[in-house]
Amino acid sequence: MRIYISDLSFSYDLHSLTKAFFQSEDVEVKEWGSEISNIVEAFYYRVETPDSEVREVRVENCGEDRPQFKNKIKREVYIILSELTGKKLPWGTLTGIRPTKLPMAMILDKKSDDEISTFLKDTYLVTDEKIGLSTNIAKKEVGILESLHGDRGYSIYIGIPFCPTTCLYCSFTSNAIAKWRDRVDEYINCLKKEIDYVSEQFADKVIDTVYVGGGTPTTLLPYQIDELMSYVREKLDLSSCREITVEAGRPDSITEDKLASLLRNGVTRISVNPQTMNDETLKLIGRAHSVDEFREAFFLARKYFDNINTDLILGLPGEDEAKVKYTFDEIAKL
Ligand code: SF4
Repeated sequence: MRIYISDLSFSYDLHSLTKAFFQSEDVEVKEWGSEISNIVEAFYYRVETPDSEVREVRVENCGEDRPQFKNKIKREVYIILSELTGKKLPWGTLTGIRPTKLPMAMILDKKSDDEISTFLKDTYLVTDEKIGLSTNIAKKEVGILESLHGDRGYSIYIGIPFCPTTCLYCSFTSNAIAKWRDRVDEYINCLKKEIDYVSEQFADKVIDTVYVGGGTPTTLLPYQIDELMSYVREKLDLSSCREITVEAGRPDSITEDKLASLLRNGVTRISVNPQTMNDETLKLIGRAHSVDEFREAFFLARKYFDNINTDLILGLPGEDEAKVKYTFDEIAKL
């Protein structure tokens, strides 16, 4: 199906919003007529559904700045799509991945629950249920942040951009390790230079957390994990560090000597991520491991760590509610 819009700089938002109403359709975005695209005071949106239904909306700019105008456009488009499909979206016009950041900013700005609720409802058409959920989560996050060192503290993220293979849905900076294996030592040397720089620049601050992510950090060989993590410990004062996490995300990258190296270097938390407990889905999404291999890796990791995170993904291809429930049940048995 197609949508036509008069300003392509809003493509991403309107594609996401239209797709939220028509989840199984491919939505193509086209520019709507050059003869109207120069009219800056108004925005035009037209949707043509697979059933050949057509709706159009014209949104006036009454002096709003760009973020306000974008929200106004999304509300107007939401209304016609909702009428067209008979659906309401629990998160309203929000289509990003972190809805909690809106209530979080308002809590930090000392706004009341009522003010947060009114803002989310009026600006983004969010339902009461999701307003309650996002505000509660934001309050918990604020509580955690307040227990850290604020402006006197900092956290470090170290990215390892290699994985055993590339998953179908990957949107991260990651490359198959086989192609880059002979340059990993060089990469670690570059990380060491950055660690040197950080240790000098932040010498008067306190480290709250260290997170080594990616990619898949456990694609590094045991001696490379030792080299990197021992350098972190040598150069940075970790005496007040609350947590040192390393993503051992892909079960097919985990070995006993790597786990031993992580533990030896003070790592307190790892993740072993199945994403789903259905073998056919794992094949579909390009994960080169089975559910049994995940279990094996998890129980091996359990010998070394009691704080293990397991990521799951909802909405994977071919997965319905029953498959997701099966995944939850299997994870609960671990
Ligand atoms: S494990 Fe994560 S980072 Fe690596 S390819 Fe898969 S999605 Fe991308």
